[in-house]
Amino acid sequence: MADTLYADIRREFEQKRRAAERDARARRAEIYRDFPALAELERQISLKASEYSMRIVNGEPVQNEMDDELEKLSQKRERMLRENGIAPFMLNPIYECEKCRDTGVADGGYCSCFKKRVIEEHFKNSNIGSSLENQSFENFDISLFSSEKTGDFPLSPRENMERNRDICIRFADNFDTVEKSLLFLGGTGLGKTYLSTCIARRLLSGGKSVVYIGSVDFFGRIERARFDSASVDAEHFEQCDLLIIDDLGAECPSAYATGVFSDIIDKRIRLGAKMILSSNCRMSDLEKLYGQRVFSRIAGGFDCLLFYGGDLRIQKFMNGDNAR
Ligand SMILES: [Zn+2]
Repeated sequence: MADTLYADIRREFEQKRRAAERDARARRAEIYRDFPALAELERQISLKASEYSMRIVNGEPVQNEMDDELEKLSQKRERMLRENGIAPFMLNPIYECEKCRDTGVADGGYCSCFKKRVIEEHFKNSNIGSSLENQSFENFDISLFSSEKTGDFPLSPRENMERNRDICIRFADNFDTVEKSLLFLGGTGLGKTYLSTCIARRLLSGGKSVVYIGSVDFFGRIERARFDSASVDAEHFEQCDLLIIDDLGAECPSAYATGVFSDIIDKRIRLGAKMILSSNCRMSDLEKLYGQRVFSRIAGGFDCLLFYGGDLRIQKFMNGDNAR
């Protein structure tokens, strides 16, 4: 996916650059038609420049003479433009990015405009809806979680969520070196999707590709791809930097879809590519649903974070309703 994306954006830049150059040629032709003296002067400048270049190549000491004469001609040109009310930029291509002249390359690497374009495209392809756009580590309100211990849990919901949040921040900030993926287990509306989105946002902003998908949609797409070659296939889920599958267990996958899911997990673990899986189910239910092979991969390759507590205010916040 990344290779295709870069190739597509390079093509887009080339088209953009060619269009700017084509427009400039058309503007110049029109201006020369109206001001033939300018066209003639530019022809003279170009002739003089190549004439002097030849003489310099032949060893003649004419560098200073060339500089003087070209400077005079250039001043004459500037005067002519000014007197006829022609803005100099009209004769040249107007690039969106002056730094790289729309080539996408600057200072021996990708220009900042190209990187920005890649990030935009990653955001678009990530499947993260606009409703989740405000969800970030910075907006995360830990005070919503109770500091009273509950049940047999050793940590209060607030201490637990602080721990989960810190693990997620470390995961996002050390994404290239962390070894394990993350598994979020716990009830609905307790922050699993919220923290996944915070990680996704941080990685997307750093230029990583993320695919976020609910499990019903994920297994549905895998089934469709089996019979329809035009739909999104497993490769889409194998090649992104981070794959997030939300709400595992909400669907009833076929043996075929479970097999593809298992292959995707295998392949990603083999490549060191990370995932975040979340579910309302218990580990034993996941084993029943997806089988021993998937279960053992998850048990070995994922750090498990538990989500618990329960407060209407938390659920409102997690659903994006911040008016408390
Ligand atoms: Zn640029």
